[in-house]
Amino acid sequence: MGVILGIESTAHTFSFGGVYTNGKTISSSSALFRPEQGGIHPREAADHHSVLSGSLFKEFISKNKIPVNQIDAIAFSQGPGLGPCLRVGASVARSLADKIGKPLIGVNHCVAHIEIGRLQTGCLDPVLLYVSGGNTQVIARNGNRYRVIGETLDIGIGNMLDKFARTQGIPFPGGPKIEKLSAEWLKEKSSARLDDIILPYGVQGMDLSFSGILTAAIQKVADGHNLQEVCWSLQEHSFSACIEVAERALAHTGKNELLLGGGVACNERIREMSQLMCKERGAGAFWPEKQYCVDNGTMIAELGRKMLKHNIHTKLVDSAIDPSMRTDHAEVVWD
Ligand code: AMP
Ligand code: MG
Repeated sequence: MGVILGIESTAHTFSFGGVYTNGKTISSSSALFRPEQGGIHPREAADHHSVLSGSLFKEFISKNKIPVNQIDAIAFSQGPGLGPCLRVGASVARSLADKIGKPLIGVNHCVAHIEIGRLQTGCLDPVLLYVSGGNTQVIARNGNRYRVIGETLDIGIGNMLDKFARTQGIPFPGGPKIEKLSAEWLKEKSSARLDDIILPYGVQGMDLSFSGILTAAIQKVADGHNLQEVCWSLQEHSFSACIEVAERALAHTGKNELLLGGGVACNERIREMSQLMCKERGAGAFWPEKQYCVDNGTMIAELGRKMLKHNIHTKLVDSAIDPSMRTDHAEVVWD
Protein backbone atom coordinates (compact mmCIF):
# COMPACT_ATOMS: atom_id res chain seq x y z
CA MET A 1 0.00 0.00 0.00
CA GLY A 2 1.24 3.50 -0.84
CA VAL A 3 2.47 5.98 1.76
CA ILE A 4 2.17 9.76 1.80
CA LEU A 5 5.29 11.26 3.39
CA GLY A 6 4.84 14.46 5.42
CA ILE A 7 7.55 16.98 6.32
CA GLU A 8 7.02 19.49 9.13
CA SER A 9 9.37 22.43 9.65
CA THR A 10 7.36 25.54 10.59
CA ALA A 11 9.30 26.40 13.76
CA HIS A 12 11.15 24.43 16.45
CA THR A 13 10.33 20.93 15.16
CA PHE A 14 11.71 19.14 12.13
CA SER A 15 9.77 15.97 11.49
CA PHE A 16 9.07 13.22 8.97
CA GLY A 17 5.81 11.34 9.30
CA GLY A 18 3.54 9.32 7.11
CA VAL A 19 0.06 7.99 6.46
CA TYR A 20 -0.85 4.94 4.39
CA THR A 21 -3.34 5.63 1.61
CA ASN A 22 -6.03 3.88 3.72
CA GLY A 23 -5.56 6.42 6.53
CA LYS A 24 -3.39 4.32 8.90
CA THR A 25 -0.92 6.66 10.57
CA ILE A 26 2.83 6.12 10.86
CA SER A 27 4.42 7.79 13.91
CA SER A 28 6.81 10.62 13.12
CA SER A 29 10.57 10.80 13.54
CA SER A 30 11.12 14.29 14.94
CA ALA A 31 13.86 16.54 16.28
CA LEU A 32 13.12 19.51 18.52
CA PHE A 33 15.39 22.55 18.44
CA ARG A 34 16.08 23.69 22.02
CA PRO A 35 17.96 26.99 22.21
CA GLU A 36 20.77 27.09 24.77
CA GLN A 37 19.52 30.46 25.90
CA GLY A 38 16.81 32.92 24.89
CA GLY A 39 14.01 32.22 22.44
CA ILE A 40 14.08 30.47 19.09
CA HIS A 41 16.34 32.20 16.60
CA PRO A 42 14.87 31.27 13.19
CA ARG A 43 18.29 30.94 11.51
CA GLU A 44 19.65 28.68 14.26
CA ALA A 45 16.52 26.52 14.18
CA ALA A 46 16.82 26.26 10.38
CA ASP A 47 20.47 25.17 10.70
CA HIS A 48 19.41 22.51 13.21
CA HIS A 49 16.77 21.26 10.77
CA SER A 50 19.07 21.09 7.77
CA VAL A 51 21.86 19.32 9.69
CA LEU A 52 19.45 16.62 10.92
CA SER A 53 17.22 16.20 7.87
CA GLY A 54 19.24 13.40 6.21
CA SER A 55 19.62 11.21 9.29
CA LEU A 56 15.99 11.75 10.36
CA PHE A 57 14.73 10.70 6.93
CA LYS A 58 16.85 7.53 7.05
CA GLU A 59 15.61 6.81 10.57
CA PHE A 60 11.99 7.28 9.52
CA ILE A 61 12.09 4.98 6.52
CA SER A 62 14.22 2.28 8.14
CA LYS A 63 12.29 2.25 11.45
CA ASN A 64 9.00 1.90 9.58
CA LYS A 65 10.36 -0.36 6.81
CA ILE A 66 9.13 1.88 4.02
CA PRO A 67 10.86 1.26 0.71
CA VAL A 68 11.30 4.57 -1.11
CA ASN A 69 9.30 3.24 -4.08
CA GLN A 70 6.28 2.84 -1.78
CA ILE A 71 6.04 6.63 -1.32
CA ASP A 72 3.20 8.08 -3.41
CA ALA A 73 3.68 11.79 -2.68
CA ILE A 74 5.68 14.22 -0.56
CA ALA A 75 3.64 16.70 1.50
CA PHE A 76 5.32 19.60 3.28
CA SER A 77 4.32 22.57 5.46
CA GLN A 78 4.16 25.52 3.08
CA GLY A 79 3.12 27.97 5.82
CA PRO A 80 2.52 29.68 8.17
CA GLY A 81 5.76 29.68 10.11
CA LEU A 82 9.30 30.99 10.35
CA GLY A 83 10.70 31.64 6.87
CA PRO A 84 14.17 30.08 7.30
CA CYS A 85 12.67 26.95 8.91
CA LEU A 86 9.94 26.56 6.28
CA ARG A 87 12.55 26.88 3.55
CA VAL A 88 14.49 23.85 4.84
CA GLY A 89 11.39 21.63 4.79
CA ALA A 90 10.36 22.88 1.35
CA SER A 91 13.84 22.26 -0.10
CA VAL A 92 14.00 18.74 1.31
CA ALA A 93 10.49 18.06 -0.07
CA ARG A 94 11.34 19.39 -3.53
CA SER A 95 14.53 17.37 -3.80
CA LEU A 96 12.90 14.14 -2.56
CA ALA A 97 9.91 14.58 -4.92
CA ASP A 98 12.26 15.20 -7.81
CA LYS A 99 14.50 12.26 -6.92
CA ILE A 100 11.67 9.71 -6.68
CA GLY A 101 9.50 11.31 -9.37
CA LYS A 102 6.41 11.68 -7.19
CA PRO A 103 4.07 14.67 -6.66
CA LEU A 104 4.81 17.48 -4.24
CA ILE A 105 1.95 18.79 -2.07
CA GLY A 106 2.31 22.08 -0.18
CA VAL A 107 -0.04 22.07 2.81
CA ASN A 108 -1.36 24.58 5.33
CA HIS A 109 0.06 23.71 8.76
CA CYS A 110 -3.01 24.91 10.73
CA VAL A 111 -5.40 22.90 8.57
CA ALA A 112 -3.17 19.85 9.09
CA HIS A 113 -3.82 20.09 12.86
CA ILE A 114 -7.56 19.84 12.14
CA GLU A 115 -7.26 16.93 9.74
CA ILE A 116 -5.06 14.76 11.97
CA GLY A 117 -7.50 15.44 14.83
CA ARG A 118 -10.49 14.44 12.69
CA LEU A 119 -8.70 11.30 11.50
CA GLN A 120 -7.67 10.23 14.98
CA THR A 121 -10.82 11.02 16.91
CA GLY A 122 -13.54 10.47 14.32
CA CYS A 123 -15.15 13.84 14.99
CA LEU A 124 -16.79 15.17 11.84
CA ASP A 125 -17.31 18.91 11.81
CA PRO A 126 -15.58 20.35 14.88
CA VAL A 127 -14.67 23.76 16.14
CA LEU A 128 -10.89 23.50 16.53
CA LEU A 129 -9.25 25.17 19.51
CA TYR A 130 -5.72 25.39 18.16
CA VAL A 131 -3.39 26.15 21.06
CA SER A 132 0.26 25.91 20.11
CA GLY A 133 3.56 27.73 20.55
CA GLY A 134 3.14 30.29 17.79
CA ASN A 135 -0.62 30.14 17.15
CA THR A 136 -3.80 30.41 19.12
CA GLN A 137 -6.92 30.27 16.97
CA VAL A 138 -10.50 29.10 17.06
CA ILE A 139 -11.33 27.65 13.65
CA ALA A 140 -14.48 26.24 12.09
CA ARG A 141 -15.45 25.07 8.65
CA ASN A 142 -17.89 27.20 6.71
CA GLY A 143 -18.62 25.80 3.26
CA ASN A 144 -15.33 25.21 1.47
CA ARG A 145 -13.05 27.10 3.87
CA TYR A 146 -11.83 26.72 7.41
CA ARG A 147 -12.49 30.15 8.91
CA VAL A 148 -10.68 31.73 11.83
CA ILE A 149 -13.42 33.00 14.12
CA GLY A 150 -11.20 34.07 16.98
CA GLU A 151 -7.48 34.32 17.57
CA THR A 152 -4.75 35.83 19.68
CA LEU A 153 -4.09 39.48 19.02
CA ASP A 154 -0.51 39.21 20.24
CA ILE A 155 1.48 36.08 21.17
CA GLY A 156 0.47 32.41 21.07
CA ILE A 157 -0.50 30.79 24.38
CA GLY A 158 2.37 28.28 24.22
CA ASN A 159 4.81 31.08 23.53
CA MET A 160 3.44 32.89 26.60
CA LEU A 161 3.97 29.78 28.77
CA ASP A 162 7.47 29.25 27.36
CA LYS A 163 8.44 32.90 27.92
CA PHE A 164 7.16 32.85 31.48
CA ALA A 165 9.04 29.60 32.12
CA ARG A 166 12.23 31.08 30.69
CA THR A 167 12.10 33.99 33.16
CA GLN A 168 12.03 31.34 35.92
CA GLY A 169 15.03 29.44 34.56
CA ILE A 170 12.90 26.67 33.06
CA PRO A 171 14.16 25.64 29.59
CA PHE A 172 12.06 25.34 26.42
CA PRO A 173 9.45 23.89 26.16
CA GLY A 174 8.14 25.37 29.41
CA GLY A 175 4.49 24.25 29.13
CA PRO A 176 4.95 20.70 30.47
CA LYS A 177 6.92 21.92 33.51
CA ILE A 178 4.28 24.59 34.25
CA GLU A 179 1.67 21.83 34.17
CA LYS A 180 3.74 19.81 36.65
CA LEU A 181 4.25 22.75 39.03
CA SER A 182 0.51 23.58 38.89
CA ALA A 183 -0.41 20.01 39.75
CA GLU A 184 2.01 20.08 42.70
CA TRP A 185 0.36 23.26 43.96
CA LEU A 186 -3.11 21.73 43.76
CA LYS A 187 -1.93 18.66 45.64
CA GLU A 188 -0.44 20.79 48.39
CA LYS A 189 -3.36 23.20 48.58
CA SER A 190 -6.48 21.21 48.03
CA SER A 191 -8.57 24.39 48.40
CA ALA A 192 -6.64 26.67 46.03
CA ARG A 193 -8.72 29.78 45.25
CA LEU A 194 -8.34 31.90 42.16
CA ASP A 195 -8.98 35.16 43.97
CA ASP A 196 -5.78 34.58 45.95
CA ILE A 197 -3.86 35.37 42.82
CA ILE A 198 -5.73 37.21 40.11
CA LEU A 199 -4.16 37.71 36.71
CA PRO A 200 -5.45 39.62 33.65
CA TYR A 201 -8.06 37.72 31.65
CA GLY A 202 -7.38 38.36 27.96
CA VAL A 203 -10.69 37.89 26.15
CA GLN A 204 -11.62 40.61 23.67
CA GLY A 205 -14.83 39.64 21.91
CA MET A 206 -13.91 36.47 20.01
CA ASP A 207 -10.21 37.26 20.27
CA LEU A 208 -7.60 36.56 22.91
CA SER A 209 -4.43 38.16 24.19
CA PHE A 210 -1.62 36.78 26.33
CA SER A 211 1.10 39.41 26.61
CA GLY A 212 -0.58 41.17 29.57
CA ILE A 213 -0.95 37.99 31.59
CA LEU A 214 2.70 37.14 30.89
CA THR A 215 3.91 40.46 32.33
CA ALA A 216 1.58 40.17 35.32
CA ALA A 217 2.65 36.59 36.12
CA ILE A 218 6.33 37.56 36.05
CA GLN A 219 5.49 40.43 38.40
CA LYS A 220 3.62 38.14 40.82
CA VAL A 221 6.71 35.96 41.25
CA ALA A 222 8.88 39.07 41.64
CA ASP A 223 6.43 40.21 44.36
CA GLY A 224 7.16 37.04 46.30
CA HIS A 225 4.29 34.73 45.31
CA ASN A 226 5.02 31.03 45.20
CA LEU A 227 6.06 29.92 41.69
CA GLN A 228 3.80 26.85 41.78
CA GLU A 229 0.81 29.01 42.70
CA VAL A 230 1.54 31.46 39.88
CA CYS A 231 1.84 28.58 37.39
CA TRP A 232 -1.51 27.24 38.51
CA SER A 233 -3.20 30.62 38.25
CA LEU A 234 -1.57 31.25 34.87
CA GLN A 235 -3.05 27.99 33.56
CA GLU A 236 -6.48 28.64 35.09
CA HIS A 237 -6.77 32.16 33.64
CA SER A 238 -5.30 31.57 30.19
CA PHE A 239 -7.06 28.23 29.59
CA SER A 240 -10.41 29.64 30.80
CA ALA A 241 -10.06 32.48 28.30
CA CYS A 242 -9.55 29.97 25.46
CA ILE A 243 -12.46 27.81 26.60
CA GLU A 244 -14.76 30.84 26.82
CA VAL A 245 -14.05 31.79 23.21
CA ALA A 246 -14.36 28.17 22.10
CA GLU A 247 -17.75 27.91 23.82
CA ARG A 248 -18.98 31.04 22.08
CA ALA A 249 -17.74 29.63 18.78
CA LEU A 250 -19.80 26.47 19.37
CA ALA A 251 -22.85 28.60 20.19
CA HIS A 252 -22.45 30.87 17.14
CA THR A 253 -21.76 28.10 14.64
CA GLY A 254 -24.26 25.60 16.07
CA LYS A 255 -21.60 22.88 15.94
CA ASN A 256 -21.44 20.28 18.69
CA GLU A 257 -17.85 19.00 18.61
CA LEU A 258 -14.79 20.72 20.08
CA LEU A 259 -11.41 19.46 18.90
CA LEU A 260 -8.18 20.45 20.63
CA GLY A 261 -4.94 20.71 18.67
CA GLY A 262 -1.44 22.16 19.08
CA GLY A 263 1.15 21.40 21.76
CA VAL A 264 -0.78 23.02 24.63
CA ALA A 265 -3.55 20.49 23.94
CA CYS A 266 -1.23 17.94 25.65
CA ASN A 267 -2.16 19.64 28.92
CA GLU A 268 -4.53 17.62 31.13
CA ARG A 269 -6.14 20.72 32.63
CA ILE A 270 -7.16 22.31 29.32
CA ARG A 271 -8.54 18.90 28.30
CA GLU A 272 -10.53 18.69 31.53
CA MET A 273 -11.90 22.24 31.07
CA SER A 274 -12.92 21.41 27.48
CA GLN A 275 -14.73 18.33 28.65
CA LEU A 276 -16.57 20.20 31.42
CA MET A 277 -17.69 22.98 29.07
CA CYS A 278 -18.78 20.56 26.36
CA LYS A 279 -20.65 18.33 28.80
CA GLU A 280 -22.67 21.30 30.03
CA ARG A 281 -23.85 22.11 26.53
CA GLY A 282 -24.31 18.55 25.29
CA ALA A 283 -21.33 18.69 22.96
CA GLY A 284 -18.34 16.33 22.57
CA ALA A 285 -14.71 17.18 23.40
CA PHE A 286 -11.94 15.50 21.41
CA TRP A 287 -8.18 15.54 21.20
CA PRO A 288 -5.63 13.42 19.33
CA GLU A 289 -2.79 11.48 21.00
CA LYS A 290 -0.09 13.76 22.42
CA GLN A 291 2.34 12.83 19.64
CA TYR A 292 -0.19 14.35 17.19
CA CYS A 293 -0.98 17.47 19.26
CA VAL A 294 2.56 18.83 18.96
CA ASP A 295 3.91 19.67 15.51
CA ASN A 296 4.63 16.46 13.60
CA GLY A 297 5.15 15.19 10.08
CA THR A 298 2.24 12.72 10.27
CA MET A 299 -0.35 15.50 10.35
CA ILE A 300 1.23 17.04 7.24
CA ALA A 301 1.04 13.64 5.54
CA GLU A 302 -2.64 13.28 6.48
CA LEU A 303 -3.61 16.59 4.90
CA GLY A 304 -1.47 15.66 1.88
CA ARG A 305 -3.38 12.36 1.63
CA LYS A 306 -6.73 14.17 1.55
CA MET A 307 -5.46 16.63 -1.07
CA LEU A 308 -3.93 13.88 -3.23
CA LYS A 309 -7.25 12.02 -3.21
CA HIS A 310 -8.71 15.11 -4.86
CA ASN A 311 -5.83 15.36 -7.29
CA ILE A 312 -4.36 18.47 -5.71
CA HIS A 313 -0.59 18.73 -6.21
CA THR A 314 1.77 21.67 -6.03
CA LYS A 315 3.77 22.51 -9.13
CA LEU A 316 7.41 23.38 -8.54
CA VAL A 317 6.76 27.02 -9.55
CA ASP A 318 4.00 27.25 -6.93
CA SER A 319 5.98 25.61 -4.15
CA ALA A 320 7.42 28.78 -2.57
CA ILE A 321 6.82 28.96 1.17
CA ASP A 322 4.37 31.50 2.63
CA PRO A 323 5.32 32.43 6.23
CA SER A 324 2.03 34.31 6.77
CA MET A 325 -0.31 31.82 5.08
CA ARG A 326 -3.81 32.12 6.57
CA THR A 327 -5.97 29.21 7.63
CA ASP A 328 -8.69 30.20 5.14
CA HIS A 329 -6.19 30.37 2.27
CA ALA A 330 -6.80 26.76 1.25
CA GLU A 331 -9.98 25.66 -0.49
CA VAL A 332 -11.32 22.63 1.37
CA VAL A 333 -12.67 20.22 -1.23
CA TRP A 334 -12.61 17.06 0.88
CA ASP A 335 -15.33 15.84 3.26
P1 AMP B 1 3.57 23.14 18.98
O1 AMP B 1 3.98 24.56 18.67
O2 AMP B 1 2.18 22.84 18.56
O3 AMP B 1 4.55 22.08 18.53
O4 AMP B 1 3.57 22.99 20.56
C1 AMP B 1 4.64 23.40 21.36
C2 AMP B 1 4.10 24.22 22.51
O5 AMP B 1 3.25 23.39 23.33
C3 AMP B 1 5.16 24.78 23.41
O6 AMP B 1 4.84 26.13 23.65
C4 AMP B 1 5.02 23.94 24.68
O7 AMP B 1 5.40 24.62 25.87
C5 AMP B 1 3.56 23.62 24.68
N1 AMP B 1 3.22 22.42 25.46
C6 AMP B 1 3.64 21.15 25.25
N2 AMP B 1 3.16 20.34 26.22
C7 AMP B 1 2.43 21.11 27.07
C8 AMP B 1 1.71 20.88 28.27
N3 AMP B 1 1.62 19.66 28.80
N4 AMP B 1 1.09 21.93 28.87
C9 AMP B 1 1.17 23.16 28.32
N5 AMP B 1 1.85 23.46 27.21
C10 AMP B 1 2.48 22.45 26.58
MG1 MG C 1 1.44 23.75 15.15
